[in-house]
Parts: sequence; C-alpha cells; structure tokens
Amino acid sequence: MLLTITTTHQPATDLGYLLHKNPARLQSLEITGGQAHIFYPEATPERCTAALLLDIDPVALVRSHRGPAGEGFALEQYVNDRPYVASSFLSAALVKAFNTAMNGTCKDRPALPEVLLPLEATVAVMPAASAEQLRRLFGPLGYEVETETHLLDPTQQEWGNSRYFTLRLRHPALRLQDLLSHLYVLIPVLDRGDKHYWISQEEAGKLLRRGGEWLPRHPEREFITRRYLRFAEFVNPTLERLLGDEALDEETPETIASFSAGTPEYSESAAEAVAPADANAATKQNLHDLRLDRVAEEIRRLGAKQVLDLGCGEGKLVRRLLKNGAIEHILALDVSWRELERAQQRLHVSEMPPRQRERLTLTQGSLLYHDARLAGYDAAAVVEVIEHLDESRLAAFEQVVFARARPGAVLVTTPNADYNQRYEALAAGDFRHHDHRFEWTRAQFTAWAEGVAEHHGYRVRIEPLGPEAPEVGAPSQLAVFEQ
Ligand code: SAH
Repeated sequence: MLLTITTTHQPATDLGYLLHKNPARLQSLEITGGQAHIFYPEATPERCTAALLLDIDPVALVRSHRGPAGEGFALEQYVNDRPYVASSFLSAALVKAFNTAMNGTCKDRPALPEVLLPLEATVAVMPAASAEQLRRLFGPLGYEVETETHLLDPTQQEWGNSRYFTLRLRHPALRLQDLLSHLYVLIPVLDRGDKHYWISQEEAGKLLRRGGEWLPRHPEREFITRRYLRFAEFVNPTLERLLGDEALDEETPETIASFSAGTPEYSESAAEAVAPADANAATKQNLHDLRLDRVAEEIRRLGAKQVLDLGCGEGKLVRRLLKNGAIEHILALDVSWRELERAQQRLHVSEMPPRQRERLTLTQGSLLYHDARLAGYDAAAVVEVIEHLDESRLAAFEQVVFARARPGAVLVTTPNADYNQRYEALAAGDFRHHDHRFEWTRAQFTAWAEGVAEHHGYRVRIEPLGPEAPEVGAPSQLAVFEQ
C-alpha cells in the first residue's frame, strides 16, 4: 500500500516541516496489522515527495480477526488484496504518521500549515467501481483527477479490467491538511472490501471532525457518509449533523443565537445590526450577556454541583459557570465541531491548570439522540438552542433531556417572537437568525413549557429576559423547570 505526496512549492523541502518528518531519514512505525514506513524518494528545493508505505501482514490480520473471514474459500484469509489496496489501514496510518499535519499545526513554522501549496498525491492502488466514481468523489474538491486502469490479469486480456486504479490527484493550491483529510475520509469510502471494523459512535465523530469543513458542501456527501459509516444507524444522525452544520455555517460565521451583538470579529446579521427602536446601544450590546448572566445566576441559586450546558456554542456560559466555585463539573455539549474548537480556544482549555481542566468536559453530541452521558446532573442550561432544532424534532429533544437525562433543573431560553415587531430591519414573519427554525410568542413558549413540565414531572416558571416593552414584552424568555 503506497501513497506519495509531492509539492513543487518553493522551497519544496518545507514538506518535511509540514509532515514533521525529516526528509533525510527513513522512519517506521507500528500500525494495526503491520508497519508503516515514511521516506522521501526525492527532496530538492524544487520538488519534494514524501512516501507512506504500508507493509501489511495478512497473517497478522487473520490472527487479529481483521482480515477476510475466508469462509467457503479458506485461502482468501491469506491470499487477498489487503496488503496492497488502499483501505482504512491507510487512513489510520495517516493519522498516526502525520498527526500534527492533519491537525494543521507545525511547531517549527507555525504559519506554514495555512499556506496553499501545489500538491500532487498518488495512491498506487485505489479500489473503485469506476474511474468515473473517482472523478465524482475527488473532482468537486478541486482536484484534477487522473486514473490508470489495471487489467485483472495481464496474461488473460479477456478477463478485462480489475476494480483497481492508480489514482493521481493534482491541486494547484491547497493546504496540506485538507489533502490529508480528503484522503482520510475518501479512501475507506472507496474500498468495498474494507471490513471497516471501527464502526462506532466515535467513528461518526471522526468523520465529522475530518470532513466537517468540506463534506457538507460535497455533492456526494450522502454517499460518502453512508459508505464511510456502513451501518445505517449512524448514518442519519451524522448526516443530520453535517447538514445542520452547513445550515449554520453558510451565511454568517456567527452561529450564536439571535441578536447577541457578538464579539467584534463576527459580523452581525441584518436584524442584529439594528437596535430595537427604544433600546439604547448598551442594552442591545448586552442582551446576550444579560441572558447568560441570568442563567448563570439561576444555576448558582439552585446550588447545582453537576451542570450540563447543552448546545454550548463557543462556551460563553461555560466561562461564567467556571467562576462558580460550587460547581464541581460541567459537561458542555454541542453538535458542531467548529463551535467546540472555538470554545476550546476561547476558554484556553489547554492552558488551564489541571484541577480547573478536570472540571470541564467539552464534547460533541446531538440533543436529538439519547446520550447516556447526560444522566445524573443537577441542572442543564439550554440557552438559545431549541429554536435551532426543527419543530418536528422537539419531541425527540424533550425525550432526550426531560425523559432520559432528567436533570434536577432545566433552564431553557428562546427569543420572544412578540418582540420582533420592535426590530426595524425584521419584516413581519422573519426570524432573527437565518438558522432559526421557529420563533415562538410568549403564549406558544408557555404552552410548550407547561406541557413538557406536566408530562415529565417538573414544575415550571417562565420569566421575561431583557428590558420589557409595552404589549410585546421582553426580547427573550426563560423557562426554569425543576423536578
Ligand atoms: N448556548 C450558546 C450557543 C447558542 S447557538 C450561547 O448561548 O452562546 C445554538 C447552538 O446550538 C449552536 O452552537 C449549535 O451548534 C447548537 N446546536 C444546534 N443543533 C444542535 C443539536 N441538535 N444538538 C446539540 N447542539 C445543537
């Protein structure tokens, strides 16, 4: 199994820094089923090629129950294409060999990972249904795709072509980490002989992590997700997360709810740019802060020790909760990997002293699917999240939070649609944020909250959030459910 990556970027030997592998040395590492070797067939300032060669031992695969089963055709266990054909072993080896490059970091040259390079990758033996399939998968990512077909047996011309191709990809200007993530995801997608033992929820997380940036826009995203995950049970939630991310990301980088003025680096949506007619700038500026402060205060009042922040976004509430010494542990969950990465950075998690770090778990998950990790908490905050869920999926959300996780208290905030008429930029019936699936009036929110409370054995109190205006009430609303 051989993959080579070439650049003609000047100096081309920068590739060694990026891959964190010295061009002058041969390096080898252990991988499942064999060994990976990394070396440079060429390394000049004009052109540099790194090679990743996998030496897979089919006998070792049999012993570890990772090779073909060999039923009916016993020899197949030992004589098969696994050692030669690009498969999930290659993806696993990419991560092991080029971990820092895949994560877009470069210790010696921190700016280098962001540089767009002319790149060429060759996969010596790529399985595929057709050359056309290879073009459909790699073409939309901007590659020039060249394929070479191989006969099943050169001595038996009439047997025709095999399902193996040599694949050459060329891109004029691409970050190396993007090339690696494309290969990481698409290689196992193409290999039908791949048993893909790694099916688990964790694997769905990997797909979201490696594919999150580009997969939502790929015309074959559904096929890719299905083939990558193989088992349907993981496919739909993952697709939903990917497509959900797409909806969140497309128009504004600011996925944070409604009219938070946002931090300066984010653009505001049209509605947010205009202050309510009667509100002074300071009020508008602080509305989201006010909301978060109110929720943090309520959690303090409840004396909660174990707290969930569901749909935590970039961690604005977490920052407040960490200041509350009574809280022993916070589980902050979001469906969007990008938001989680942002939270990780903004909260400076990697620089936290260990005791502080232990108080916080940032994790990916969806509020629409039962998640056993959410059980046993004193309080859960769900701030400006429900309006991002399809109304038809609220029953699932209710089930996950109120029936299964059952925190001692649940704090839900959502915009008050009655108030929208105060926003000059908002036409009647418009939502405050492009990703909102609905916005409820006070009556609608109250009806929903009371229904949920009754159904699941909570009592609920609803309060306005933000400065109240005559007739339309406050811009936002908070429901406090307690068991
Ligand atoms: N609570 C944060 C972020 C609100 S924005 C704050 O107040 O600042 C809404 C967040 O909900 C986004 O981060 C979005 O990724 C997340 N989200 C949307 N659908 C979700 C789902 N099904 N499960 C978990 N989080 C979801």
